[in-house]
Amino acid sequence: MSAKIRLYVDHPLGAGQSVPLDRGQAHYLFGVMRQPVGAQVALFNGRDGEWLAEVARAGKRDGELICVAQSRPLQMPPDLWLCFAPIKKARTDFIVEKAAEMGAARIVPVMTEFTNAGRVQTDRLQAHAVEAAEQCGGTYVPEVAEAVRFDRLLDGWDSTRHLMFCDEALAAGGGSALPEARGPWAILIGPEGGFSEKERERLARLEAAVAVRLGPRILRADTAAVAAMTLWQQALGDWG
Ligand code: SAH
Repeated sequence: MSAKIRLYVDHPLGAGQSVPLDRGQAHYLFGVMRQPVGAQVALFNGRDGEWLAEVARAGKRDGELICVAQSRPLQMPPDLWLCFAPIKKARTDFIVEKAAEMGAARIVPVMTEFTNAGRVQTDRLQAHAVEAAEQCGGTYVPEVAEAVRFDRLLDGWDSTRHLMFCDEALAAGGGSALPEARGPWAILIGPEGGFSEKERERLARLEAAVAVRLGPRILRADTAAVAAMTLWQQALGDWG
């Protein structure tokens, strides 16, 4: 038996566990989705897997669910970060949504030299990641990190984390496949203006970085993000 509605809650889940609903959740479940007392809903919190829960109390501003049984174990994505330069709002939202669906563990907005997006609203992006996890059946929600400057990101780079540097300068040339290196990884996607020469030099000096080509055409950043995650998941991730 599986419930149609999936809801992310920031609350422990377990047999018999009562889960209080906040105003937004109560409005969604009872006002919008018209769920009565006794209806079943699937809950996940990113830690305890997915639980089937029953509506015990349905109020206008709050409510309560009781967990019945676990319907899915926690499935962690591989240790893959998606680092990307934020672009226009709707396209940035798209990248975050796709990263959650594709199985990124962490999403990191990076301010590069040619990034011309305004302030990044981490909360809004995090909400998009939650929504994507709710609809794609994920039991884990990737964390959206605070935006970080390119230099600072590389200054503190953990040398054991491989970096798949998607370099548009390789589009015209050839070669450069993804190496079969296991362990933690990150993908790096540049902005509409691409990477600067300075940034390219800096990445060339980073031992963990490998420049990768995403075919002979220049992709838009949002397309490139999805293409890179596909390539990585197929070669090294959990698609096999
Ligand atoms: N304005 C730049 C293109 C930027 S595309 C130019 O015309 O050169 C945005 C980002 O997508 C790039 O920084 C890169 O990370 C990625 N990308 C797009 N096409 C790519 C390709 N063929 N190979 C590798 N990365 C690519």
